[in-house]
Amino acid sequence: MHELSSSLTEVALDAAAAGERAIQEAVGTPLEVSTKASPRDLVTAADHAAERAIIAYLREQRPDDAILAEESGEHPGTSPVRWVIDPLDGTTNFVHGRPDFAVAVAAEMDEEYVTGAIRRPAFGDWIAGGEVGIWASEGSPGVSEPRRLDDALISVGISLLPERRATSFALLGELLPAVRDFRRTGSASCDLFAVATGALDAYVTLDVRPWDIGPGWAVARAAGGRCLRIPTVAGRSAFLVGNPTVVDQLLPLVESHDG
Ligand SMILES: [Mg+2]
Repeated sequence: MHELSSSLTEVALDAAAAGERAIQEAVGTPLEVSTKASPRDLVTAADHAAERAIIAYLREQRPDDAILAEESGEHPGTSPVRWVIDPLDGTTNFVHGRPDFAVAVAAEMDEEYVTGAIRRPAFGDWIAGGEVGIWASEGSPGVSEPRRLDDALISVGISLLPERRATSFALLGELLPAVRDFRRTGSASCDLFAVATGALDAYVTLDVRPWDIGPGWAVARAAGGRCLRIPTVAGRSAFLVGNPTVVDQLLPLVESHDG
């Protein structure tokens, strides 16, 4: 058994498990795919079912807390805790039969992501962490060893919004000559899962939504990562999460990005 000594981390992991069960029950039924903000932004019946299950679990365990959920938005609360939920991150992968999708849950207090949990149903694994520690279904989680930027494998988030995609690719194009290479799963939480287990050295993205970054931010920090939110010269927000030595070397390149 994996002992979780932090109750918020345990709730995050169990809430994500409720979402995972809902996704597993939805597999084999019609996906009911529809689009949201852009034709590339997909949502399925499984996203909605997982979100309902997660919210029901949180309402039962933590009735006073607020919730921000990707599909249903804000649910007010009276406590200092707000839960941030991505019921199915990587919906496009899910729709195309690819395994890189995740259920991701974070707890936020005073505008800080204090704990997070990420479950990958197709891989049957999970990682969860917060200010008191980090746990995983297998292995010893932790960010990669210190390394030079030209030895680093990074991921760059690519926006789903048509007007933002060129900027995402421009940032990738600027970083690529400085690093060994990049990998991208198509799920921010799956990329951040890889950062927290040392399989990626850093994740960089612009203007991300709370449910995309929050769970992985908390988990990666608990894994020894450095997590930064910085303004770019174009006035946008950039997020850097990863091995501290790699994040420090990426920082000036991302700060000067003018997209
Ligand atoms: Mg989602």
